[in-house]
Amino acid sequence: MRGIVHVQAGQCGNQIGSKFWEVISDEHGVDPQGYYKGENPLQQERIDVYYNEASSGKYVPRAVLVDLEPGTMDAVRASPYGQLFRPDNFVFGQSGAGNNWAKGHYTEGAELVDAVLDVIRKEAENCDCLQGFQLTHSLGGGTGSGMGTLLLSKIREEFPDRIMNTFSVVPSPKVSEVVLEPYNATLSVHQLVENTDMSFCIDNEALYNICFRTLRLSSPSYGDLNHLISMTMSGVTTCLRFPGQLNADLRKLAVNMVPFPRLHFFMPGFAPLTARNSFNYRPQTVQELMNQMFNPGNMMTAADPRRGRYLTVATMFRGHMSMREVDDQILAVQNKNSRYAPTVYTSLSQSQRWRPLVGAAGPYFVEWIPHNLKVAVCDVPPRGLKMSATFIGNSTAIQEIFKRISEQFTAMFRRRAFLHWYTGEGMDEMEFTEAASNMSDLISEYQQYQEASVDDEEVEFEEEEEEIDNSQYLRDAKTELN
Ligand code: GDP
Repeated sequence: MRGIVHVQAGQCGNQIGSKFWEVISDEHGVDPQGYYKGENPLQQERIDVYYNEASSGKYVPRAVLVDLEPGTMDAVRASPYGQLFRPDNFVFGQSGAGNNWAKGHYTEGAELVDAVLDVIRKEAENCDCLQGFQLTHSLGGGTGSGMGTLLLSKIREEFPDRIMNTFSVVPSPKVSEVVLEPYNATLSVHQLVENTDMSFCIDNEALYNICFRTLRLSSPSYGDLNHLISMTMSGVTTCLRFPGQLNADLRKLAVNMVPFPRLHFFMPGFAPLTARNSFNYRPQTVQELMNQMFNPGNMMTAADPRRGRYLTVATMFRGHMSMREVDDQILAVQNKNSRYAPTVYTSLSQSQRWRPLVGAAGPYFVEWIPHNLKVAVCDVPPRGLKMSATFIGNSTAIQEIFKRISEQFTAMFRRRAFLHWYTGEGMDEMEFTEAASNMSDLISEYQQYQEASVDDEEVEFEEEEEEIDNSQYLRDAKTELN
């Protein structure tokens, strides 16, 4: 058994985390009391990746719930699936982090962190073979962001060879009014770059746009945003939870998706997009799914992939559909914008069959990574849909969200606005400068690989690295910081 330990921290982390458990419990036939009520053996085959089985036959999420104030976790406990969680795995404080990263990372959070690590360690030790960890949190607040990243570094210290994955909610002024968010997010990204193997960037700005433009909700609530997140999280974890070959565990997913260790920030996407509480009434075809899935409007990150290039992409189709049709559609997508012809592998979850497909990835895919589009199919569709598709893209366009945060950060930081809230908790201004410059470096690294062509020689490439400080934007940002 190759278990994953799930950790959820802060208000957002607990809200999206609990929703994740609700959705996957339903998919695996686990009722709100933890008992299996399903009918399909596939539901149970790999259930131990996320659940422990108690001696009573009850399935218990391998989940640790963390917060610096009790409110959100009380709400989780009182929710329909609240009884599913192990009561000892709720770890919380009383003080709150007041949207201050420093409180989460250095003061209040640091006081609670050992208690959390004790619980995490216990769960990890109970796994025969631990794959790694996943954290759900927001980057804009204090607890999920500050304490969440503190946990990441502590876990990494203790389990250096296990995979660390995060579902990180990126802040947007369209959704939240908290002015400190660009600070909190920048300080967090600084940590994520160093301490995670993969981070799914779930961007409130993109979720808001999807709700407003595509689903026509005039004032989207967190419930609406979280519905999109839960569908996406269920989609991206499908390969981990159901039998199959492709990306079947966290490490395989990381190995396929991350060509350079720092560039591990993914843009997830989902099709078909549906509003909460509404059934899908549109006719669904593989072709429609494919078109939607590659559509920038279906991305959960507000960055336009057409302005960058994909380093790698993994897609997952769910439901009963013809493999032939999936293959044909993949070919069509590739042919539409292609000059090069890498091989695409498809894997069938059931028969574990691999077959090479000759296709072509176009200017939207870097041509110097052959086979950089992977397709998997799982027979079990998500609840309420006949078929669905999930997209995971490692696109250089993701630099757009880091630029967005960086601009907001710089606007405040050059006047040192609100800094006393952080220095008051013992932080040094230097840490802000370092975090901002680490994020600028990340942006230039994406840019560098966006521009790299298959003909570049290694030597030239390395020289380029020295002088990557190429865009005017970065120079401006750096000057302003200094
Ligand atoms: P914490 O409890 O200190 O970790 O703070 P929060 O999790 O409330 O962090 C604030 C950030 O998270 C803001 O950017 C909010 O917009 C966002 N946020 C809070 N709750 C939710 C939620 O349920 N869903 C989503 N998508 N974002 C949330």
